[in-house]
Parts: sequence; structure tokens; C-alpha cells
Amino acid sequence: MHALDEYLREAEIAHSHLCAGQVLGVRMAMLGLDKLGIEDPRGKDRKRLVTFVEIDRCATDAIAVVTGCRLGKRALKFRDWGKVAATFVDVSSGRAFRIAARESSKALAKSMHPEIENKNQQQMRAYREMSDADLFTVQEVRVELPPEEFPGYQGERTVCAECGEGINFRREVVREGRTLCRACAGEKYYTTIGSRQ
Ligand SMILES: [Zn+2]
Ligand SMILES: [Zn+2]
Repeated sequence: MHALDEYLREAEIAHSHLCAGQVLGVRMAMLGLDKLGIEDPRGKDRKRLVTFVEIDRCATDAIAVVTGCRLGKRALKFRDWGKVAATFVDVSSGRAFRIAARESSKALAKSMHPEIENKNQQQMRAYREMSDADLFTVQEVRVELPPEEFPGYQGERTVCAECGEGINFRREVVREGRTLCRACAGEKYYTTIGSRQ
């Protein structure tokens, strides 16, 4: 593992700026790896780790940088819960730790550095200095990870009986005997305008 400053430099490049969220994300990921005893997540240990993130903000980018877990590698799983929290799963041992940022860390940052007026700067500084215990709650957890959730899963691809689009990773839904994609089964996040070209 690298040192905090090295990761922060990499996170800054990946995220295009350095911010309090980056510091939080880097430290959260470093703590998660430390808890699992994973030393080289982007090298020899790269197949051991799956990370669940619970927010799509700055910290998430930093977590991806440190862990090497990416959405496109299926090693980064997004649960849209609006919480600055992540769960680090060692798929080789089944051990997992969920780490969440303490709500009190903002107030603590303020009391540590009242002389810094800019909130982001204040938190960036304080989040570097705070202890893990002041910054995070840590809980050992168990994550049921079915085979189709693993990064290297090779499954059958099926086709939606309604729209004809292909579906991977067992995301199909069977309704009254018909195999449907989630959109056609009623989970659309979009409304269609005009006919399909
Ligand atoms: Zn940011
Ligand atoms: Zn469909």
C-alpha cells in the first residue's frame, strides 16, 4: 500500500480536484484494506476485493483509486443510499468490513481548525489529521455475493421477450412465463419519446 499523500495525489488526478471527500474516501479505503489485510489491491491482490459504495460523490472516486475496484470490472458495486459509507469484501475469505463516515466529523473538523474559514479546506486538513476512530465507524459484516455478482462471472446471456435487447448477469425478470428485461418489467427510469429508430 502507498502512503496517504501518494494516494491523494492519484485521487486528485483521477477526480480533477482535491477536496475533503477525496481525503475521506482515500482514508476509508486504506482502512478497509488494512482491516482485510489486503496489501496490494491493484497488483497481486486485485482479484480478492469487491467494494460496495453507498454514494456517488467525491469519496467514491477516491475509493476506486485506492482499491482499483471499477464499475466496468464489476468489482465496484453501487447502492444509491446517499451515505458516505463503503463495504470492503475479501472474496477469498468472505470477510467484509463496512465503514461509514461519522456525522460528527464535520463538527470535529471545525473545532480542530477554527482558524480555517473555508469549509472544504478546514475539513481537508482535519480529515488528514483525525484518528480513524474519530473519522469512521467500522463494523465487520457478511455480504452474500451470489456467483453472478463476482467480477469474472461467465453466465448465459438472455434476450428480453418484449424489447429484444440482450441481458447479462441474470438481471432478467420472469413475468407470467415471459423473460423480460427490468425496463419492460416496469422498472424504467426513463419514459420513451417517439418510436425506436
Ligand atoms: Zn470532490
Ligand atoms: Zn425489454
